[in-house]
This record gives sequence, structure tokens and C-alpha cells, in this order.
Amino acid sequence: MAQVKLVDVEKRYGSFVAVANQSLTIEDGEILVLLGPSGCGKTTTMRMIAGLEDITEGDIFIGEERINDKPPKDRDIAMVFQNYGLYPHMTVNDNIAYPLKLRGQSKEQRNARVREIAEKVELGALLHRRPSELSGGQRQRVALARAIVRTPSIFLMDEPLSNLDAKLRVTMRAELKHLHHELGVTTVYVTHDQMEAMTLASRIAVMRDGHIVQLDTPKNIYSNPVDLFVAGFIGSPSMNLIEGTITKGRFEAPGVSIKVEAADRGDVVLGIRPENLELATGKGAINGPIYALELTGDATLITIREGASLICARGPADFEAAMNSPCSLKPTSDAKLHLFDKTSGQRI
Ligand code: ATP
Repeated sequence: MAQVKLVDVEKRYGSFVAVANQSLTIEDGEILVLLGPSGCGKTTTMRMIAGLEDITEGDIFIGEERINDKPPKDRDIAMVFQNYGLYPHMTVNDNIAYPLKLRGQSKEQRNARVREIAEKVELGALLHRRPSELSGGQRQRVALARAIVRTPSIFLMDEPLSNLDAKLRVTMRAELKHLHHELGVTTVYVTHDQMEAMTLASRIAVMRDGHIVQLDTPKNIYSNPVDLFVAGFIGSPSMNLIEGTITKGRFEAPGVSIKVEAADRGDVVLGIRPENLELATGKGAINGPIYALELTGDATLITIREGASLICARGPADFEAAMNSPCSLKPTSDAKLHLFDKTSGQRI
């Protein structure tokens, strides 16, 4: 196991900065998730740690050792990719055993270890098959088994679940979490799926345009996003963001009036999560016609239109109303209100 440390690491392609002056420590045994939209530099960061990409500037350490010039195969890192990277002509057994073969282990040693790992990821009955004879989830488990077969110091996982269907993703997420608990290997995990990040991470680094904009525990990022970008990115359905002003201790926008504890000012954005809004009787803090109702099973997502924006609340599962009928919402008594500067996007 090992700590991974990036010090002032930058990656440029010509004049284009893919990863900008990044310093980051991934603690021994944690799962650090790099989260952000397509093109923000997640994969590039990961590939630099793996040694698959040169570093333009800065240093990367594993433990005490500076590894900038160390070949990938000597870094004691195992990677799991989105497309699994299995060898199609080899059986499951041989795919999993491959890293051991490269290390010169005997057939008996390899087979014993493969059986042990295959039990852990429930592939014991499929060892003789080839990848083409497996489902997506089974292939992903083979890729995982191959990564864990030699217990590396570090796992790098690049969107490992994104080729799976929605149900399998949720199952595999739990399996990954369980596996991490068992093995305790330092893991860097790349995703653009905020739910995956929230559920798996010890800490999340939210990235945008090559920069880390916030690095914290999932809980803190959810409850205290540093800016509008993070606020809108984390949470599903996403946080309602309403533009307005603060006047006499109230946030005011057309159809909206909410008491806030902040000094008067113009050009602010109020953020409030759907679960922090509830139905009001009579005139509420936010009023508008019903735009959509979506039953999720245990709740109804109630979307109302207020001016140009749509505002979503998590209401009771048995809520019913006609489209376009008037609806009133108010913050719940324990609602957390977030205020951002409209121009800079920064949290106030
Ligand atoms: P995705 O979620 O789509 O995989 P990402 O956050 O992993 O995105 P990266 O693959 O790290 O993004 O790419 C970061 C930026 O660097 C992108 O704008 C990409 O176009 C650019 N980039 C990546 N590889 C190269 C390359 N070889 N030459 C030039 N630009 C590149």
C-alpha cells in the first residue's frame, strides 16, 4: 500500500493545458475520486500517475520515491479501464493469471491464486470461458480480478462501470466498495458520474478545465459546494439555482421570497436542493404552475415553473395535481440555503 503525491504537476499538449499545476495527495488506503465533465483532465491525471503519459512539469511520488522517470511496469500499479482490456483469445483463467505469468510464477502457483481471487469476485464457475462468452458485468469482474490478483500498491480505475447497464452499475459499485474494504489498496477512481463519486469516495476532487476546484469528503462537498459549478454538478436531481437579489434580509426573485441570513446585495444566486423544499399550504416562498410530476417510487419529483427557471422539490409519493395548476413550495424547517455571487460563481 502507498501514498501517492502530485506536486505542482502540469500537463500541456503544445500550448493547451490539460492539467494545470495540480498538487494532490492521495492518502494510503483511501479511494480518491476524480470527478468532472468530459475533457476536464481526469484521465490525463490518472495516466500520468500510471506512467502512460509524460509529465510536462512537477513531480509525482509514490511513498517517498519520486517516480517521474520510472517505467509503468515498475510502479506496482494495477489499472482497470472502461473497456475492460481483456485478451479475447484467452480464457477467464488465463486472463486473470496473466500478471502472475509475467512475474514468472509457476502454473501451480498461478492456478491456486486465480481460484482464490475468482471465488472473491464470484467467477469460480466461469474460469474456462472466453470473454466473448460473458456478460458485461462478468467481463468487468474478470478485469477487476486481473487487477487484484497480485495485490498492487495502487489501483487506478478509469470509468470502470460505465459500460454496464444501470442496475449492474449499482451492484458493481457495492462490490467495489466491499472489495476496497477487504483489500484496503490506495485507489484513484475516475468518473463523471456524481452518484458513483458520492458513494465510493473517501474524498472527491471535483475537476474543471484542468483544475481541481474542490477537494473534500463527499459529505462536505454535498453540503458546502464552493461554487456554482460544484453546486450544479453534485446531487441528483441537481440543486435548484435561482437568480435574484437580497433585500431587507430576504432573497427575492419573481415568484420567490425567502428569508436569508445575509447582508443586502444584488446579483446573487440562491441554491436549494430538491429535498430541502416541501409543499406549502396557501402562498409559499416559491410559487408557480406545475411543469412536471415524476414518481420515483418513494417520492414524487415536483417541478414548477418560476419565470424562466424550473424548480424541483421532492414531494410525497402520493402527491397528485393537474399540469399547470398553481403550486406553492417552501423551504423545509431544516433547509440548507446556499448563496453564490452571480458574477464570480463563488459561494458567499
Ligand atoms: P473524459 O471524461 O471525456 O474521458 P477527461 O476529463 O478524462 O475526459 P482527459 O482525457 O484527461 O479528459 O483530457 C483532458 C483534455 O486534454 C481534453 O481537452 C483533451 O481533448 C485533451 N487531450 C487529451 N489527450 C490529448 C492529446 N494526446 N493531444 C492533445 N490534447 C489532448
